[in-house]
Amino acid sequence: MTLTDQPAPAPRSLPTWCSIETAAAAAGLEVCAALHPARQPVQALAGGTLILLGTGTAFWPLFKTSPEYQDSVPDPVDSWSGRVVGALARDLGGTAYFPFGGPPYTPFINWALASGRFFTSPSQMLVHDTAGMMISLRGAIHFEQEFDIPPAPLAQSPCDSCPSRPCLAACPVSALADGGPYDLAACHAYLDTSAGAGCMSGGCLARRACPLSRSAGRDPEQTAHHMRHFHPQ
Ligand code: SF4
Ligand code: SF4
Repeated sequence: MTLTDQPAPAPRSLPTWCSIETAAAAAGLEVCAALHPARQPVQALAGGTLILLGTGTAFWPLFKTSPEYQDSVPDPVDSWSGRVVGALARDLGGTAYFPFGGPPYTPFINWALASGRFFTSPSQMLVHDTAGMMISLRGAIHFEQEFDIPPAPLAQSPCDSCPSRPCLAACPVSALADGGPYDLAACHAYLDTSAGAGCMSGGCLARRACPLSRSAGRDPEQTAHHMRHFHPQ
């Protein structure tokens, strides 16, 4: 038999929503949005199916056993995401994208909003239909093929039916205020004080005040780890 007689490799089977959700969950990730760029126009992509991945409830225990955490590599969550989302994309036959590593940055906010699963909150920060303001996007996988994805569950922003808007009143220094932008300087200055210990250990009061954030199932240790990365002391 010559090389030209070798049978062609079997075509890769079409990914399915279920297979992606199952593979993502096994890796500690949740599918938090999906879209078809041909019908929900986005920056940088024209067709196929795009899946956005965030940390799931299984993330923190899995991450703590990872070499990135145990070896204290720099930016361990980003390093973990690169390895894990990259492997998922290879296994599933897609292309991985990441919200870090720029500039230039991949347009994750544009993708998230186009999916109909994320919305702009009154302070201009993103809010998700189930994770609220406790959002941790870790990567995306783009597939050349179009396959079925479930419709976005909400027809409009959850903020439209949240008249008390507690996310706007919770920050002691009004760093997240109506209309934004995020006053990062005021936030970091507050976190440098002893009064900021509650945010450092328990997470941003404004994000936690969103009722939807309570269903995010975020491990308090993960939140504290994020805060130490956001505001090293
Ligand atoms: S607290 Fe209400 S207004 Fe604020 S982000 Fe959550 S749902 Fe929207
Ligand atoms: S972390 Fe604390 S200081 Fe910073 S925006 Fe959130 S509530 Fe305000």
